[in-house]
Amino acid sequence: MLPETLSPAFRPRTAATGALVVWHELAHAFLLREPVVRTPPWLQELVPQALSAAVANRTGLPLGEHLTQIDRDPGFKIRGFSATDADGQMAFQNLLVLLGTAAVERFGEGFLKRLVRALWEEREVVGEERAGEILADALGRGGREWLLSRPEF
Ligand SMILES: [Zn+2]
Repeated sequence: MLPETLSPAFRPRTAATGALVVWHELAHAFLLREPVVRTPPWLQELVPQALSAAVANRTGLPLGEHLTQIDRDPGFKIRGFSATDADGQMAFQNLLVLLGTAAVERFGEGFLKRLVRALWEEREVVGEERAGEILADALGRGGREWLLSRPEF
């Protein structure tokens, strides 16, 4: 059974919301074509958020307007976060779409391919530290410094 309408928990509600949610879920499905080891939630969710942002850019969806409606300081950072309720989960996902969009702008879409390949190659459960290394390596030159400069991270 598939939902026909978007839960009110999805925020902000803009012209981009519905498409972003669908691309996000398609990205999860794509990632699961190969076995993926357990990683911190932020890394698991960053891939679909960055990918949906990249598709939004390509298709000319009003992503910029969507991003302006996101709370940039919900009182936590993505690392170590685990959601306890729908509002917390949404705030977490919104920080990830900010980070994912900024990463695509700064490093280009190519980092997503490197990140997905790296996740498929991991054989052991990925902890917080390793997750940061995997992402920084996928971003490429200057990735580590950039990541540490990001307020969401
Ligand atoms: Zn997700």
